[in-house]
Formats: sequence, C-alpha cells, structure tokens
Amino acid sequence: MSRRTDKSKIAFEQAEKVLVGGVNSPVRAYGAVGGQPPFIARASGARLMDLDGNEYIDYVGTWGPAILGHAHPKVVEAVCDAARKGASFGAPTEAETRLAEVILAALPSCEKVRFTSSGTEATMTAIRLARGATGRDKIVKFIGGYHGHADALLVQAGSGATTLGVPSSPGVPADTTSHTLPAPYNDAEATARLFAEHGEDIAAVLVEPVAGNMGVIPPADGFLRALREQCTRRGALLIFDEVMTGFRVARGGAQGLYGVRPDITTLGKIIGGGLPVGAVAGRAKIMDHLAPIGPVYQAGTLSGNPVAMAAGLATLELLAQPGIYEALETTSANLSKALQTAASEAGLSQKVCFQRVGSMLCCFFTPGPVRNYDDAKTSNLEAFNAWFHAMLDGGVYLAPSQFEAMFVSAAHTADDIETTAGFAKTAFQAAAKILS
Ligand SMILES: *Cc1c(COP(=O)(O)O)cnc(C)c1O
Repeated sequence: MSRRTDKSKIAFEQAEKVLVGGVNSPVRAYGAVGGQPPFIARASGARLMDLDGNEYIDYVGTWGPAILGHAHPKVVEAVCDAARKGASFGAPTEAETRLAEVILAALPSCEKVRFTSSGTEATMTAIRLARGATGRDKIVKFIGGYHGHADALLVQAGSGATTLGVPSSPGVPADTTSHTLPAPYNDAEATARLFAEHGEDIAAVLVEPVAGNMGVIPPADGFLRALREQCTRRGALLIFDEVMTGFRVARGGAQGLYGVRPDITTLGKIIGGGLPVGAVAGRAKIMDHLAPIGPVYQAGTLSGNPVAMAAGLATLELLAQPGIYEALETTSANLSKALQTAASEAGLSQKVCFQRVGSMLCCFFTPGPVRNYDDAKTSNLEAFNAWFHAMLDGGVYLAPSQFEAMFVSAAHTADDIETTAGFAKTAFQAAAKILS
C-alpha cells in the first residue's frame, strides 16, 4: 500500500488537458476499475517501472505483443539498425518479404500476406477482401468478440467496448452494421441458424479462435470445426482473427493448435515486436483479389514499415528457439496453479474460475465455466476491481478490466510467479470481503 503515485497523478492531469481522457486508447484510462493509471517510464523483461519509481511484474505485455518481455536486446538492436538506415521509404524493401516468408512458414493455410499498421486495419481489410472475393455482404461475428474498431465490427464487441458498456458506438450508421450478424460464442447451432436464414448472403464468419477480449474463453470442442464445415458448405469464407493468438498460443497460432484451417487469417501484436503492425494472410487465390493484382482496394503509407518489419523479424526469430513455447506453457500453467491456490486459501475456490490457453489466461470472478459473453458478464466486477487494485498496489500490473487477458512472457521467471502468488493471496482476500 506504499505505492507512490504523485508523479503519475501530475502526468495524468497534464495529459487530460490535451488528450481525450488523458489517453490514446480508452481502456488505459482505468474507467472500469476506478483510480488513475500509472504512467510508465520504462520497461525491461517482465518488469515495468512507472514515473514514481514503482516497479511492477507486467502481465499486460503491451496487450499481447511483448511475448519476449520488454526491450529484448536483440529486438532493440534490430530496431536501431533499421532506423539508422531510414525509418520509412514508401517503397518496397526486402524486410517485408523476409517477414512474410517467416509468417507463411508458420501458417500452412496462408500463401500470401498484406501488411498493415494495426490489427484494426487487418480485420477491416479481411472483411472487405471476403466481401470482394465472394460478392456477398453479410459478416457473422461473435458477441463479445473484438476485432478492432472498424465500423462494421463494432457490434456487440468485446475489450474496451465491453468495458465501457457501449454495445455499439454512436457515429456508426445503422446501415454499416446492418450486414453484421452477431452470434453467441461457442454456439455452432446459432451460426447454423444464421446460415439457414442468410446462407447465400454471408461472405464470411469472423472469429477469434480463442476469445481473448472478453476474458479468455477457449473454443468448445468441435466449435471451430463446425464453423469450417458451415463456411465450406455455404461458400462463405472463414476468417480467423489471430491478431492476439498468432505466435502466442503456438507458433502456428490457434489454427495450428486446433487443427482447423481458415481461408483468411488476420495478425498483429506479436508479429510487430511492439511496433505498429497488422497483417492479412490467406490462400493466393483469395489474397490476389487485393490491389494491385485485383480490384479490392487497400493501401497504407506506413504499411510494411522497415523499422516495424525489423522488430517483427527479430521477435519471430527469437521465438523460433527450441523449447520456447514449452517454457511459456510451463510458466503459464504454474502461474495459473499458483493463483488458483491463492484464491482457494482466500475461500474463493467455488467463486472464481481460471481459464487459460497457453500464455493467455484469466481469472473470472464467477464460478464458471465461462463459455460465452453472457457467462462472462455474470462476473462480479466489484470483486475484480478490489483484486485488481490490491495486485497493482502490491506490484503486479494487470489489464484494468475483467474482460481482458493476462499475458505471460518468456521473460517471466519462477521467482516472478512466486512473487505474484504472494501478492495474489492478499488481493483475493480483498475480493473475498466483497463476495462473502
Ligand atoms: C488487439 C486486437 C485487434 C485490434 O488490433 P489493433 O492493433 O489494436 O488495432 C483485433 N483483433 C483482435 C483479436 C485483437 O486482440
């Protein structure tokens, strides 16, 4: 409870005068959990340091990208080398080809890549591509699924849109979302009904193969396979949004882990090594609908930016070291187990539920299991907030919302897990007071 906050408070006041809500992405403002966010001064490995000199064990990992931890020396070196040669040319560079080759080698469902500057752009492009390739307009998405902030996808969206309780958003015309069909996650019968009703009009089914923006929800047995079959049967395209799961749950993403091949894959986060990158990938026959080969338009001044490509390449090279995903699995399983023990000791074993896929995990403050957004919404947010603040005060940096994932990195050590579990004991006791 001795966490110092003076400098972060002043920094936030200054930021609020010139930035909307003091931030450039809404969840950072701590609206859901209350209080004010620490301002970060620097980070290294699994540790964040704020302006007031408080150190935190970080489980946000810049919302997913920092799978190697922060400021890995080889990534920093690659970024500096690339910047020295010129940060951007708006012309082809070899680094784009190299990163595309590495991505394609990891994802057998994909033959060509188009890089963007964010995950939002990637999913926006993916649905335009699917619509252009099929000549159909409708898109199926899942309630609580988050695919960035493009108009057509801001329908019953997860992440910040959930946290803020904004099911859609003003400024998004109804005509834009009228072609978006929402279905509950893990409910293949619901998507079958949508296909029965709209079959010939559905261009694509867009899904997070592991839902990571309403907490962490693994796909139910057979769910992804059922979507694959429905899309194939009806001539629709299956889009896996692997912006979060790509190179996270396995080198081959969730599609590798579950053995289901999408037609189009979107990527982001890890493939940019902490710099702004997104990507759309898929079979050549589909991808070649994009300009300049095909008529579906898409472009970007900073797309395939050399500095971002260098950071991505260095990151994916380091992730190719043998045993790295096995080590991530072990650390993450140990963290989950340690948190579960701490929760039990606070008398919460029947009141919380832990869900994990690889190094993505989450503690829902509801008995669970959590299979979809409706289940996730039964979480006791007051208890989550008490837990969150006690963890933060102890020195553990978590995403400030029940509806986000915790990310473990290769830089987290057994000591970090033990320290985290120590703080978690106190934090679960704080939550238990609310739940009793
Ligand atoms: C983060 C995320 C996005 C959006 O990516 P940005 O880079 O924030 O635009 C899209 N889809 C999923 C699954 C994500 O987790």
